[in-house]
Amino acid sequence: MSTVARGPAAERRPVIELRRIVKSYSRGESEVHALRGVSLVVDRGDLVAIMGASGSGKSTLMNIVGCLDVPTRGHFWLDGVDVRTLDEEQLAAIRNRKIGFVFQSFNLIARTTALANVQLPLAYAGVRATERRERALDALTAVGLADRAGHVPSEMSGGQQQRVAVARAIVTNPSLVLADEPTGNLDTASSNEVMGIFSEINAEGRTVVLITHEDDVAKFAKRVVRLRDGEIVDDHRVAPVDGPPPLRAHVAASPTGTHAR
Ligand code: ADP
Ligand code: MG
Repeated sequence: MSTVARGPAAERRPVIELRRIVKSYSRGESEVHALRGVSLVVDRGDLVAIMGASGSGKSTLMNIVGCLDVPTRGHFWLDGVDVRTLDEEQLAAIRNRKIGFVFQSFNLIARTTALANVQLPLAYAGVRATERRERALDALTAVGLADRAGHVPSEMSGGQQQRVAVARAIVTNPSLVLADEPTGNLDTASSNEVMGIFSEINAEGRTVVLITHEDDVAKFAKRVVRLRDGEIVDDHRVAPVDGPPPLRAHVAASPTGTHAR
């Protein structure tokens, strides 16, 4: 497997450094400017919500940060590595090892157990079977689903399926977890459940960047960045990077709590 050179200072570098990123698409005669000079630095341990109306450039930004697309202009360092210097093979390697992806539609493999779904990225990375199983179980435990390891997606609620997807995203121990509208297909209770998991994995030191257009979801973030027409129009911090996630007063406590039977 190819490796990417990292200087000794790489650990101290921000996870994401975007400098004046421009992304334009040609559409017939005209050009669509999806991003118009976006600069953004995300430090290790942050939990950032990217917000904005449909068409504001959120997914374009996410695809660039996830090394799924390249900017038209500008500079991008991921974990201290200048992404422009990488070839296709190195980009694929960086996607597998440094980034965990979570999608709106879960993207779990049907008729395949949660445990097997979570193991998949490790199989691609060539990890041997016993270790794969152990690490997948650890990841499922981290999202509170160890007891569902043998269940297939159709036997789980939407919230549980998305938690399996989060387990799959963290099983490779990535520097960064990226999620594009992770609660877009979920009801309020499941949304809160999934965002609670993002808060927890963030509290363990993982950097999380997620896209949402829901204020209720953004409330879980430590920092909120708002895009409009391909530009950052607002960027404010809600909680310190190293501190706990913001108090989630809007999450109703269980009405019954724990009760003896
Ligand atoms: P969001 O995720 O905020 O809804 P997108 O990043 O998907 O926004 O899109 C930003 C703008 O770029 C939109 O005007 C969209 O139509 C355009 N766009 C995105 N991807 C492409 C593409 N592959 N080709 C042409 N235009 C695109
Ligand atoms: Mg989008």
